[in-house]
Amino acid sequence: MSEDCLFCKIINKEIPADIVYEDDKVLAFRDINPQAPIHTLIIPHRHINNLNEANADDQELLGYMVLVAAQIAKDNGVDESGYRLVMNCNEQGGQTVFHIHIHILGGRQLTHLG
Ligand code: AMP
Ligand code: ZN
Repeated sequence: MSEDCLFCKIINKEIPADIVYEDDKVLAFRDINPQAPIHTLIIPHRHINNLNEANADDQELLGYMVLVAAQIAKDNGVDESGYRLVMNCNEQGGQTVFHIHIHILGGRQLTHLG
């Protein structure tokens, strides 16, 4: 838990979110400003600023987040049509919320890589 972290507040249910999945390790919710018909964020309960702050202890958690992303893609019926996972890091990576997260984007043709 990090004070003043938006996503920690969502985990603690201090701020509402459109939650699609939760367990003891991760939470997934719809992005408030969707860039595709399917745009969901997966975050760990543990506060990690971004990939730069992750360490070997987080290896299992990061792999687990990717597998949850794949399951959410399946649940949304975009596993066959296709989807993209994105993890932004720091300013030039386009990171705006400093609690590590994976974006799942799908439901339309995704074109460029920015
Ligand atoms: P990033 O730019 O990779 O740090 O992604 C942060 C994402 O969080 C953006 O796509 C925002 O639209 C999304 N976001 C910000 N605030 C909220 C919120 N309260 N609920 C859901 N998504 C949010
Ligand atoms: Zn946080």
